[in-house]
This record gives sequence, C-alpha cells and structure tokens, in this order.
Amino acid sequence: MILGGVEAGGTKFLCLVAQEDGAVLAQERFPTRGPDETLADVLAFFRRARDGGIGPAAIGIGTFGPVELRAGAGHGRIMATPKPGWEGADLVGPLRDALGVPIALDTDVNAAALGEAHWGAARGLRTVVYMTVGTGIGAGALVGGRPLHGLVHPEMGHVSVPREPDDDFPGICPFHGACLEGLASGSAVAARWGRPAQELDAATRARATDLEARYLAAGIRNLVYVVAPERVIIGGGIVNLPGLLPAVRRRLAELLGGYPGLPEHGEEGFVVAAGLGQDAGPRGTLVLAGMAAAEAAPG
Ligand code: ZN
Repeated sequence: MILGGVEAGGTKFLCLVAQEDGAVLAQERFPTRGPDETLADVLAFFRRARDGGIGPAAIGIGTFGPVELRAGAGHGRIMATPKPGWEGADLVGPLRDALGVPIALDTDVNAAALGEAHWGAARGLRTVVYMTVGTGIGAGALVGGRPLHGLVHPEMGHVSVPREPDDDFPGICPFHGACLEGLASGSAVAARWGRPAQELDAATRARATDLEARYLAAGIRNLVYVVAPERVIIGGGIVNLPGLLPAVRRRLAELLGGYPGLPEHGEEGFVVAAGLGQDAGPRGTLVLAGMAAAEAAPG
C-alpha cells in the first residue's frame, strides 16, 4: 500500500508519498502562501503521484494550529490564527473531494509523536510526549498509541511554570506572558538575552542553558504527572544547546522529588532528543495515513 503525507507548516508545506515501511517514493516542499494557492500545490503533487502510478490509498496531514479536529461540519478547519487568510481554511475537504481517499488530520506535534513512536526515539512505546522547542513550544502526546485530543488538541506549551527566582524576564506569550512558551521558547530566549542562544558568548550561553533547563524541566514535570508518558522526546533547535538535556534530566529529578518513586523517571532514556529530527512530523503523517486506511477498510 502507498501512503501520502502532508506536513502543513506556517512557512512551508511538505508533501510525500511513501511505502508503508516509510520508504519515500516522492517528496516536495513548497512555501506556505494563501490557503487556496497552497492547497492547489498539494493537490497538484498528489495528482502527479497518481498519474505516475504511485497514488496514495490514504493521506495523513499534520498541521500547524489551532485546528478543529472534532468530527462534524468544521472538521479540518484552521481556527483563529494571525496567519493572513488561513482562519477558517479547510485542509481536509478539498483534498478528500478531489482525490477520493480517506484523510486523517492531526496536529504537527501529534504527528511527530507518531513518527517517533514508529520509527524514532520512542519506538514501540504507547504513551509518549513529543515536545518541540523552536520559535514557540508545542507538544503532542500519544496515549495508548492514539494521538491525544478532545474538545481541542492539547496546548502543552502554554502550561504554567513557576518563575525562577533569578529571572525577571516578563515573558512573551501574547496570551499569558510568562507561560512555558512565554519564558522558554527560542523567541523568549532571544528576547531575554538579546540574541538567539546559538549566538551568545560561552558564559552567557551557559547561564541561558541552565535557566532554559529549569523551565523545561518544570514544564515536563507537569506533563509527567498529567499524561504519564513512558518517554519524553524533545525536538527543535534547542536540543543542540550543549549540556541542555543532561541539565533538564537533573532538574526534573529534583522537581519530581522522588514522587511517585519510579526509577524510570530518573533514567537517561526518559528525556531524550528526537531520533528523527526534522523527519518526525512527515514520518508521522504516514502513520496517520495508515490509520485512516485501516479505519476505511471494509470489515
Ligand atoms: Zn501562553
């Protein structure tokens, strides 16, 4: 079976068709323009694939949000977004109507969690959190192998974390100021220290890394207690900060305070870097497609 995937990002869209084992047969990337133009690019990609004999049996989409995931009339529509023209845009209907194949939609971070669980750093695990720290902070989760969403998808980047005593940076989240994203996203780091972490001198970078680790650990503590993941995967550019992950693990152990006392929470393999890097999301869209194909199969 051939599966299709779309990673819908704020600056670019990536489309691919692949075999079930993940072997990519065709892949294209285009800049995100308005919804009509961009979805026309996506449609053209899959039509070319079909004409070339590699049309997918189902398509998975991992998208930026917020997006309506509930079944019903609004399913697949982008919700309130500052991205010009995209509010209310339907990601699913036009593709399903034009291609006539099942389409599964989820968030980009839930897709990345699926990708990591099938091919990456969480292979074989059923309940995992995938957190990406870039311009913002987003996280997805699988619970019992299924992507987590309900009334809406989780917005774990916006959890509250206690302010560190040596930090008076007000935070940059437009909604909450000093939530996790407001204090610890790449944009927050750049705003607090005057430049991106990678460009800081060694001494300042060490301080920035230490503070970042404390905030991320505080956020992860919340997720550990709510989602009960078997592993937490960190993606995005932040994992390249030297010493960050060991510092997060040390701080997380302190913050858990020995409760509930599972040795797994203290192991090096509990908080790890993404195994697939940038490919986690696109790979995950193929898993979504496989799920859609299975659900649509008779019997
Ligand atoms: Zn926030």
